[in-house]
Amino acid sequence: MTRRRSFYRSLASLQRDLRVCRACIEAGYHLESLPVHNEHMGQRAYMYGQAPGVVEGEERRPWRGRAGKTLRRWLELEEDEFYKTFYCASVTRCYPGRASSGRGDRTPAPREQELCSFWTDRELELLRPQLIVPVGGLAIRRLLGSSSLAECIGRRYELDGAAVVPLPHPSGASSWLNSPANRELTAQAAALVREELGRL
Ligand code: SF4
Repeated sequence: MTRRRSFYRSLASLQRDLRVCRACIEAGYHLESLPVHNEHMGQRAYMYGQAPGVVEGEERRPWRGRAGKTLRRWLELEEDEFYKTFYCASVTRCYPGRASSGRGDRTPAPREQELCSFWTDRELELLRPQLIVPVGGLAIRRLLGSSSLAECIGRRYELDGAAVVPLPHPSGASSWLNSPANRELTAQAAALVREELGRL
């Protein structure tokens, strides 16, 4: 049975409950993994992805597959450094399985996104990150209310005292990155993230 407290004193206690969360299953949705999470190691930056993929679901750690490698290459961070720098979260935390169309993974339903926002809200209260990096249209829309990559990639925003620098999703599933102009915007956005990291 999913346990959610109205108040958490620490990220460690929040993660104890998050690790076994089954709220979406209890609401009738099909998931193919337990929640993916990473330990809190004093990170001051928050990476906010969309939903775990199959590799992440199996390992129960974020950004383990090819998209994670691309993301680290954009940010010029080695694996260890990446996980020490970013507390990695996502709109939903469990692998949702393949889409019924057979193309890519299922997009979590709005209700699943709502259920999982409980964890994001508590994490942001506890972590108070100085930098938030939403990755991909779904995460950008939930955080900034805009999902137009062309409008927001390469720009810096402020949210409750934190810098917010959006990135496109590095999975290659979207054709957005095929355009040289969009790849240039992505390089600008990655440079902005590195600049913000230099200030932490
Ligand atoms: S997606 Fe989020 S809310 Fe749903 S079961 Fe997984 S951790 Fe819980």
